[in-house]
Amino acid sequence: MTTFAPIPVADKQQLLAKLCEQLDDAIFILDANLRYLWVNASYEIMIGYREAFMLGRPLGIYAAEFLSEEEKAILADIISHLDSSGFYENHFSMPNRYGQILECHMTYRKICIAQTVYYVGMVRDVSSAIKDQRQVAHLLNYDQLTGLPNRKVFLSQTSDLLLDSYQEVVIVRFNIDRYRSLASLLGPDGINLLIQDFVTRVKALKLDNLHCFSHFGGDDFAFLFECHDANMTRHQLDSLMQMCERPFTLGENAATEANIYCRISVGVSYFPENDDTLIGLLTKAEKALHYVKQQGGDDICWYDTAIDEATDGSLQLESELRAATTEGQFVPYYQPKFELATGIITGFEALVRWQHPTRGLLKPVHFINAILTHKLSFELFSQMAIQIAKQLSAWQQQGFCQHICINADAAEFSHPDFFEMVSKLFIQHNISAHQLHIEVTESSLIQRHANVKKQLDLLKELGVFLALDDFGTGYASLSYLQEYPFDFIKIDKSFITNIETDRTQHAIVKAILDLAVALDMQVIAEGIETEEQRDVLLAMDCQYGQGYWFGKPVTADVATKMLIQQDATK
Ligand code: C2E
Ligand code: MG
Ligand code: MG
Repeated sequence: MTTFAPIPVADKQQLLAKLCEQLDDAIFILDANLRYLWVNASYEIMIGYREAFMLGRPLGIYAAEFLSEEEKAILADIISHLDSSGFYENHFSMPNRYGQILECHMTYRKICIAQTVYYVGMVRDVSSAIKDQRQVAHLLNYDQLTGLPNRKVFLSQTSDLLLDSYQEVVIVRFNIDRYRSLASLLGPDGINLLIQDFVTRVKALKLDNLHCFSHFGGDDFAFLFECHDANMTRHQLDSLMQMCERPFTLGENAATEANIYCRISVGVSYFPENDDTLIGLLTKAEKALHYVKQQGGDDICWYDTAIDEATDGSLQLESELRAATTEGQFVPYYQPKFELATGIITGFEALVRWQHPTRGLLKPVHFINAILTHKLSFELFSQMAIQIAKQLSAWQQQGFCQHICINADAAEFSHPDFFEMVSKLFIQHNISAHQLHIEVTESSLIQRHANVKKQLDLLKELGVFLALDDFGTGYASLSYLQEYPFDFIKIDKSFITNIETDRTQHAIVKAILDLAVALDMQVIAEGIETEEQRDVLLAMDCQYGQGYWFGKPVTADVATKMLIQQDATK
């Protein structure tokens, strides 16, 4: 059996000395006057001075001249604690010889050996742990893309303000209009650049009384203002809207270098007028925002009780629209398209009207957005297409071989039954495919629904003619001409309204006409309201037109009479 031998005293001292020397923590020993007596290797590395330099010098001396007021106070605190209790512990940042700031946890102990006083200091560098903590805190409280405070911070700042404030507190929620479309157009990197650019611009506005500018994620932003009078924020919000009038140009790396116009919708509520609770105020600002969006966006809405009534109204609209699709309340009105030179009707455009049971005949502006929101566009399209096919068949029997254009939202093409439904129409009603034209608006194409290109190609193969509607109003008009197989371009009426006097409009229309010749496409000018406009367009070699000057949208019976009359004057 081996015998147990305690460490000899001299070895023990050596062992402890080695341990102190090699410990990762920095250790130093001071005399009763807080002068360095000994430091270990870790302390030398941490502080940046050799032991030989430190010996005999007082604590803090290495940077004494440069000590900040805060550091001087800490030093005084150490001295007074050691005097009174013989122990000191603290957590603070200190610079080393090279100016690098170290986050330190420090302890000082008073130790008496044979009536001699020593102070032993231990320093642990916790910089990386603190950095990790800060990073976690940043991740939890700030949006990573924009660096703005997130929803959590916004809510806590708002609730603090509601508790403390004697002023009015304004909550503003705002979104970028058609954000999803922009996101699919620009791709993930592009949309991120846009958001960053947007935030930079908002910050540059330096809005007065702004307490917090927060990014809730996606295109969802919020402001928190505190001021004497909530109305003071009105002109600040106007400057936010004006900021969006300048286009955003994304960098070279983005999917598109085009100018992007990014409109916003803004909803506002304020304390104490609208509510005195955080949740109430937020909900009301959100309601106001939602209301702006429903009305087409690009506007500011201050919460009002009338909005609650309107929201209830929109629920009613949805149920009425569902009833309209099943009960066949959508009817086509027909607007003639004519040859500018001769005034001969070349076809009709079918424009939907809703024969509402109590509100009378409604135009698309009152319900077309709700149709899209509630995903009823395929039902609307089918109802219109069947009536149009019947009308074409009826005219055919009367000896009129006409074509009718139907308006479609690109969303309809992705419906699984779309193609089959259209192709069946021709057989069932004995009409040919080229009698049906389909008009797609630029604004609906931007959403790039799956299969749009495939469906348009299939329709084209079937013999259906395709038109790009409202040309010139979208984001990427020219790229659509390249991407999709259109036969017609319909120039939007906004380019025709002042064509007689406005040189820019004239030049744009001329350019579109030249482009169409080069691409072997036909052009139809929309919104011709005067003879003068017709004459200008004719002189520019535009062949076809449509507008109130020639004929407003009319019922099928009136359209038939127009055809009969035209036939009689042949
Ligand atoms: P759009 O396809 O560009 O149709 C032209 C619109 O301009 C029609 O408005 C028409 O009545 C109006 N218009 C025609 N000539 C003139 C003119 O000389 N001056 C003025 N100021 N306006 C003129 P409407 O019928 O209110 O339709 C508005 C839009 O609703 C249409 O614009 C189309 O995008 C959409 N729409 C109409 N019917 C349908 C449909 O069945 N399905 C879908 N998805 N959208 C439809
Ligand atoms: Mg149209
Ligand atoms: Mg149009």
